[in-house]
Amino acid sequence: MSERTTCVIVGGGPAGMVLGLLLARGGVEVTVLEKHSDFLRDFRGDTVHPTTLQLLDELGLGERFARLPHTRVDEISFPKDGGGQLVFVDLKRLRVKHPYIAMVPQWDLLDLLAIAGRDEPRFTLRMNAEVTSVLRDGDAVVGVRYRDRTGAGEETEIRADLTVAADGRWSAVRAAAGLAPRETPVPFDAWWLRLPRRPEDEIASLRPNAGAGQLAVAIPREGYFQIAYFALKGIDAQLRAAGIERFRERIAECLPVLADRVDQLASMDDVKHLDIRLNRSPARQAAAVSRGRTSFCVAAQVASARIADPRGPAGGSVVVIPCMCRVIRHVN
Ligand SMILES: Cc1cc2nc3c(=O)[nH]c(=O)nc-3n(C[C@H](O)[C@H](O)[C@H](O)COP(=O)(O)OP(=O)(O)OC[C@H]3O[C@@H](n4cnc5c(N)ncnc54)[C@H](O)[C@@H]3O)c2cc1C
Repeated sequence: MSERTTCVIVGGGPAGMVLGLLLARGGVEVTVLEKHSDFLRDFRGDTVHPTTLQLLDELGLGERFARLPHTRVDEISFPKDGGGQLVFVDLKRLRVKHPYIAMVPQWDLLDLLAIAGRDEPRFTLRMNAEVTSVLRDGDAVVGVRYRDRTGAGEETEIRADLTVAADGRWSAVRAAAGLAPRETPVPFDAWWLRLPRRPEDEIASLRPNAGAGQLAVAIPREGYFQIAYFALKGIDAQLRAAGIERFRERIAECLPVLADRVDQLASMDDVKHLDIRLNRSPARQAAAVSRGRTSFCVAAQVASARIADPRGPAGGSVVVIPCMCRVIRHVN
């Protein structure tokens, strides 16, 4: 089977969905291909930052977003030796409409964007559509081939004036197009885990706690805390070799208030490693696979951007704006 559109976007994450919505509203025919059947992902983005909240307002989605169940964080502080708190980030000082981080599971945000997309006649979202390869005309990328994961795995070709790879940090489409991202070194990694949350717990907001070479953040969720543990990059194998008992101690050192329940971590299988990467594909590489009105852009993950600048947008949003500029240049 063969289809045609103006812009095909691979990946229905925050980057692909926002870009698709913006283009559709700008009059561009867009098809977003997402390989999963829904947006549910374990341990994904939760923090929606002031600039992203502003973007949602500009998209006319601010009120709908505000109705999603969420908590707000306007301050990040560390406990000081001898008592008291050292305020590390005070978002209340920002002169913006939303001077806080809204804690919303990423799937709720993506559902909201998908629902908004239904109002746009030029926006098509295909779920269960896994891109398997790129289509080429000579050196130029002119679309993709995707597999329907619901039925017999039927393959469809979709040709487009513009193909956007928004398939995340390990973008297979980017690799298939021969684009190599430029890496910026990041000295730390994250490990994600869950611990039970009890009604009497007083931790109502993000409370980072640092120890020697390590830091943990407890994010309150319905019935549990999602814990992000940060330590030096490259020590995952070492942590696993040291075993769950030592890891429980590390969490208890960083978050003493949760020490009474670290035994809920049964094994290191309950601890998910996130290799934090900061990279981008140079514009000239994208130009190298462009020809005439046919182009190729990348909107891959830059997760740690939000850690470097917590006032900034979530990772996905960082790349949407430059990507939009390239899209507009090539489609017009
Ligand atoms: C454990 C973890 C915790 C995080 N916590 C936060 C946080 O608290 N706050 C925050 O702002 N950010 C957080 N992030 C980062 C945030 O999730 C990313 O910045 C953001 O999701 C990147 O958006 P994206 O659209 O570029 O990529 P992704 O969200 O990775 O989306 C890519 C999409 O492409 C789809 N896809 C992949 N391959 C194909 C294919 N072949 N065909 C079709 N579809 C495909 C995937 O299914 C996915 O839906 C976290 C990330 C991780 C991994």
